[in-house]
Amino acid sequence: MKKMIIATHNRDKFKEMKKALEGLDWEIVAAFDFPGAPAVEEDGKTLEENSLKKAKVLSVFAGLPALSDDTGLFIDALGGQPGIYAARFAGEKCSYDDNVQKVLGLMKGLESGSRRAVFRTIITLYEPEKGVRQVSGEATGVITQAVQGPGGFGYDPIFMPDGHLKTFAEMTLSEKNQISHRGKALQKARQLLAN
Ligand code: IMP
Repeated sequence: MKKMIIATHNRDKFKEMKKALEGLDWEIVAAFDFPGAPAVEEDGKTLEENSLKKAKVLSVFAGLPALSDDTGLFIDALGGQPGIYAARFAGEKCSYDDNVQKVLGLMKGLESGSRRAVFRTIITLYEPEKGVRQVSGEATGVITQAVQGPGGFGYDPIFMPDGHLKTFAEMTLSEKNQISHRGKALQKARQLLAN
């Protein structure tokens, strides 16, 4: 079986990614399985740059093919914020809930028609012999008026995808993976990994 490292220290992301890649002929490990694995500074200007940087650094570090995810949340009413800076929107060491409360505060009073948002993910597959391949996925929806649901992570409790009456935080992992930005990108990555 071939082995690959998922270039993330985020256990929530890893859980979704591992589930979406189940059944392939690849053993999957995470950056946090390697003591001393670097935490890559996301200083690029695009999701593509940051995703590539994470995959490359962790591939070289572990001596394995790497797959990375970089995700942003783009909210129309906030001029595209938090955008690629979704992780630290409320400050350098903020929690998921700090970010959620900041968004809800900034959007207070806006009606549902003015609450459009999109999640975008870029997955990079970095294989020393095959080079770099990137695939993307998007999920459009609205930011809810309040927190809804116990599951998921990050902005999931305030993101309701189009065509659904539940937030991502009210869905199972499999339900979210079927329609989410990351799930869609990973379906494309699966095809690359299967060939
Ligand atoms: P990054 O891809 O590690 O830069 O992630 C940015 C931030 O976006 C994370 O820290 C989360 O707060 C948020 N995020 C990423 N993916 C998701 C998701 O699937 N749902 C909700 N929030 C997410």
